[in-house]
This record gives sequence, structure tokens and C-alpha cells, in this order.
Amino acid sequence: MENTYWDTEIETMSQDRLRAYQLARLSETVLRAYHGSVYYRRIMDEKGIHPHQVRYLEDLERFPFLNKQIIRESQERQPPLGDLVAVSETEIVYTALSSGSTGVPTASPFTRTDFDEWMDYEARLYWSTGMRPADRYVHAISMSLFCGGPVVLGAQRLGALTIHAGTLPAERLLAIFSQFQPTCFSTTPTYAWHLGEVAQQEGWDPRSDFAIRRIYVSGEPGGSIPATRRAIEELWGAQVFDKYGISDIFGACAGTCTEQDGLHLAEDHVLAEVIEVGGTQPVPEGKPGELVLTSLRKRARPMIRFRTGDIVTITREPCRCGRTHLRLTGIYGRVDDMLVIKGVNVFPSDIESVLRDIKELGGEYEIVITREKHLDQVALRVEAEAAPAAFPVIERQTQERIKQKLGITVKVTAIPVGALPRQEHKTRRVKDLRSEVWSQPAYTL
Ligand SMILES: [Zn+2]
Repeated sequence: MENTYWDTEIETMSQDRLRAYQLARLSETVLRAYHGSVYYRRIMDEKGIHPHQVRYLEDLERFPFLNKQIIRESQERQPPLGDLVAVSETEIVYTALSSGSTGVPTASPFTRTDFDEWMDYEARLYWSTGMRPADRYVHAISMSLFCGGPVVLGAQRLGALTIHAGTLPAERLLAIFSQFQPTCFSTTPTYAWHLGEVAQQEGWDPRSDFAIRRIYVSGEPGGSIPATRRAIEELWGAQVFDKYGISDIFGACAGTCTEQDGLHLAEDHVLAEVIEVGGTQPVPEGKPGELVLTSLRKRARPMIRFRTGDIVTITREPCRCGRTHLRLTGIYGRVDDMLVIKGVNVFPSDIESVLRDIKELGGEYEIVITREKHLDQVALRVEAEAAPAAFPVIERQTQERIKQKLGITVKVTAIPVGALPRQEHKTRRVKDLRSEVWSQPAYTL
């Protein structure tokens, strides 16, 4: 009989055994870091941490946090890969590059073993969603530089027939869907929606003209926003699975299983802490906080206490699928995406969640934030599937719903479907005009 799990022992380990497994891997990681990396040896000597004295998971708290800035500085000290690297360059076979907000690329290097273990994990993730060797998989996500590119090899390892499509224009991708009838594909939530819309415009019914049964989304919070997920599922007649990854460690290190109730984190590969946003103290299970990850197996560049900048909640409640690894039950967006509107913390994903539940709203929207008299103001432009005569009613209804759910008042303007620009992949739906962080000209409503 076919196995439910890709790696039964690892995926269903009891909590106690999992903790022991993590501690053993953590000890190895610290030893490797100390003996191989200039950076880790320096900070451990400074903090008086002896590499053989990591005996409990709590010992991790003696290490300082890492962040993107530290990685960038590390690369300046020891170009090009940085002094966090713990092996010689001859052992490194791959590096992903991510540009980040400053535009200076940071590297994410892998040894051959790191890469191999990563692909095995990607195969496991796909398997946990029900993908099997009989599936045909289209990798419709950027293949260049970033860690999502090679993930297609995980589906290949699982045994699926894979097509490396990359970021093809929608019309060409749909032609592939029509000709080869793949059963699943990977993309961003934005693109999954866009592609479905284009298919309909071209006269296809995405539910019946293609064989798509599973859609893997990553790169934006949409896949974990229930209303967005349902809207994409409805459009395609398929299940949507969310993935979460952090390129500084892995392409993906968490994903939804067939139960679609949170994302299991790969606890054999990473150790999670959840800390106060802007602080350093742990928050209780179930409360939102910043996810901090420590790599447990990576050889090329161990990552000890990396602040991901992502706000999540976690649960260790058992999942119906039988996997024991903790689940991320809410991914709210980036620490730096959080908006404070008249004292209320709001994420763009919260607003999206409300909009997706209003059936007259047709897909795209834009959030514009301005500051007037030292107060942050939010204006929304939403595409409405209705005649312009109905716009005032839709505007009022949207405004009331947001007030009711999020406690903030926003100005809403309804516009016809198709009026907002479509970007093929990751769409910038928030225009923050408070600090001119984006160089676009100011928007006229
Ligand atoms: Zn599960």
C-alpha cells in the first residue's frame, strides 16, 4: 500500500524525540559554526559560549540574533559569500541570491549535501499535499537567482513529470496547460488569480478545460488568507497549498498538508522561536510574533537565531494528518509591512481578507497610505464587478465591513474591473506615500 508519508520516521516523531533530535542537530551546528566560521567563532568567544556546552535547547538563547544587515556586513568583510560561511568554497555547489530592500544581493550558499537534503524536503512537502509520481507539474515561478527556482527538482525527485516553465506570459502558459494537461503548478497567489482571469477572458473555463487539481503558492501571504485561498480554489476548481520559505535558509521550510490547516514547519531542518515584534522576548504559543529560525542541518552557512522579519502564530496541537511538526497557523506579513492606523496595527493581508469576502469586488485592489496632520490615513481603490451606478453602494458596504472587522475607517473608491495595473507576478498593492519609500509618483485618486 502506498505510504501516506514521504519520511514516516521524521514526520511523525513524538514531540520528545523531536526535541532530542533537534538538540543533537543543534550541537552539531554550533560545533561546525565555531570551527568553520570566522563570524561565529568571534561572537561565541565574545559571549563566552563554549562550542561543546550547548546541552539544552534553551542554551540557544545565549546567542545574539542574526538579521539581513549582519549578513550584508559579513559579505563586505569576506566577499563574496561572507564570514558566516563554515566550509571552504570548494565545497559549495550552489548559491541563491536575493536582492532585498537595499538592492545589494545577499547570498544563500549550499554544499552538495545541503542541496540534496533541501530537494528531499521539497519532495516531502509535495508528497504531503497528495502529489504522486503520476502527477504532471508545471513550475511557473521565477527560476532566476532566488531559492524558489530549483524547487522544481523536488517535484522531479518525487517522480512527477515536471515542466520548467518559469515566468512565461499568461497566454503561453495557458497554451501549455491546454496541450499537456498538467495536474498541478506553482506560482504566486497574485499570478494564480491573474492566470485564471486571463483564461476566462480567452474563452477557457479554468475548472473544466484544464486538469489542474493542486496549486502551490508562495512569496505573498495570500495562500494563508482563507478568503483569498478560497477565491483561487473556486476560480480553478483546485486545492491551493501555501508554502513558506526564507531564502537565507531554504526555498521552502513549511507548507500546508492535505488538511490545509496551517503550514507544518520542517522541524528537523529548522528550530523555531517566536519573539515579540520589535523586542527580544518569546511570546506564548498562539500569539503573533516574529519568527526566528535556526538551521539544524545546513553545512555551508549555519544560521543561528535568524530574525526572519515575518510575523506568524504557531501551534503544537496535533494535526489530523498525523504529522507532529508544529504548524504556522497565521502568516500576517512582514514586520515592515505592518501599518499603524490611528493606533491600530493592521496588515495589508487583513484588509485583503475583508475584501475577498465581498462578492462584488473583482480581484485587484490598491491600498494607499498617506499622512495628514500626523495621522495615517488609508484609502482603498477596489475593482467592482458592477455597473458604475452601483459603485456608491459597494463603496459604503466595503467601508462598513472594514470598520466592523478591523476597527479602522478608510476611504473607498470603486473602479471598473481591469482599471488597476496587473503585474504578472508579485504585485505591489500597497502604496505608502508617507515616507516615499517607493519611487513612484504620487497617486491621484
Ligand atoms: Zn497536517
